[in-house]
Amino acid sequence: MKSHYEVLIIGGGTAGIMTAAQLRNADSKIDIGIIEPSEDHYYQAAWTLVGAGTYDYNETRRNEKDLIPAGTDWIKDFAEGFDPENNSVETRNSGKITYDYLIVAPGIQYDLDGIKGLREALNTDAVVSNYLDPNKTWKAIKGLKKGNAVFTQPTTPIKCGGAPQKIAYLAADHFRKTGKSNDVNVIFASPGGVIFGVKDFAVTLMKVIDNYGIHFKPHYAPESIDSVNKTITYHYTQAGENGCVINENNAIGESIKGESHITMPYDILHLAPPQKAPDFVRNSPLAHQEGPSKGWMNVDINTLQHKTYENVFGLGDVAALPTAKTGAAVRKQAPVVTENILAMRKSNALGKSRYEGYSSCPLVTGYGKMVLAEFKYDNVRDSDPLLSKFVDTSKENYSMWLLKKYGLPYLYWNRMVKGKM
Ligand SMILES: Cc1cc2nc3c(=O)[nH]c(=O)nc-3n(C[C@H](O)[C@H](O)[C@H](O)COP(=O)(O)OP(=O)(O)OC[C@H]3O[C@@H](n4cnc5c(N)ncnc54)[C@H](O)[C@@H]3O)c2cc1C
Repeated sequence: MKSHYEVLIIGGGTAGIMTAAQLRNADSKIDIGIIEPSEDHYYQAAWTLVGAGTYDYNETRRNEKDLIPAGTDWIKDFAEGFDPENNSVETRNSGKITYDYLIVAPGIQYDLDGIKGLREALNTDAVVSNYLDPNKTWKAIKGLKKGNAVFTQPTTPIKCGGAPQKIAYLAADHFRKTGKSNDVNVIFASPGGVIFGVKDFAVTLMKVIDNYGIHFKPHYAPESIDSVNKTITYHYTQAGENGCVINENNAIGESIKGESHITMPYDILHLAPPQKAPDFVRNSPLAHQEGPSKGWMNVDINTLQHKTYENVFGLGDVAALPTAKTGAAVRKQAPVVTENILAMRKSNALGKSRYEGYSSCPLVTGYGKMVLAEFKYDNVRDSDPLLSKFVDTSKENYSMWLLKKYGLPYLYWNRMVKGKM
């Protein structure tokens, strides 16, 4: 194995593979190495459908080796540290590897200790997560006959911020189709104050919530899980002078604890685990050292170039970008990183393209229905103009469901990871 590459990429996930393929397509002579420990590459976006029993988990996996672009070295190892002053990355088993240009794309790390009791709770059948084991989610949804089906999300940034609510809609649809709606309470409890940051989509989603009769609980920040008594306790972040208010007829059996805590019983509980940047990034000079983005990679939000080290770029979930962390975002980020590296090799200046924060969230609202939320920085709607000629993507649509179930996976495996879009 070589100890120096012209372009060294950390992570062979969506961002790493896509950027490697684009660089390779642009110039077959670039010397590229990808550090990636896993033999598996997953199309994680389909895990929502797996969790709802409408997609085969095995279909979401490919061999990593088949995705590494021809002529690119796969360094099957973990990156463990950075020495950007000396253009060097420390690996677990392959020693130091040096580079001319570095692309950092190791994704996100789950923090199972970020909610008290979560780690133990995940060992029980009732507590599930599409982020960790979507087949287990489906088993729990399918098996529930009555009681509380609680869906929630943590206070940290997470990848695909819409995923915790998508599975709530699919579950509600499943309970309705199987005649269980009267016996199952579907609850979506979230630390946020609104269902979605972009108004056009939020309006539709509130109608979806009403139609299903979902109990929507904003300002609920999960703090602890008691998996013996099957309860989850939230910090109610809007508790005013009078403490918490439970303002329904309390069909779901919530109880108030002290001034600002609410405990909710669950029969099944789905959640996104708390998430953070991988430790080796968080504890490195490449991360923001202070402020709300502390720990996430410190890049310019438009050029994706590191703020201090000019030959270092970051993209994907690890980057501190004020937009949703999704594969769709990576689709618009990878060409910017590719162009910048090609331009720097040629003339030591950045290219012209800018990343404007595009991200999208295919909000599956039931079996056969989807709202396609596309937006950019500052929560500005950014729907595809061509698509919008034919479909109002802010409304539930069967054609968008077909896009989610068939179109996007096809594009992912045949275009994106081959660097063709
Ligand atoms: C349940 C769920 C639903 C989602 N739904 C959608 C959706 O509908 N639409 C959408 O666009 N996105 C969705 N996403 C998000 C999408 O999958 C991610 O945003 C995307 O994969 C980010 O790409 P990435 O390359 O940054 O990270 P990843 O694709 O996760 O890749 C990171 C890679 O880095 C590797 N790595 C980790 N540590 C190291 C290390 N120390 N050294 C070297 N390599 C390392 C990992 O093995 C991995 O291969 C969803 C995700 C989940 C979990």
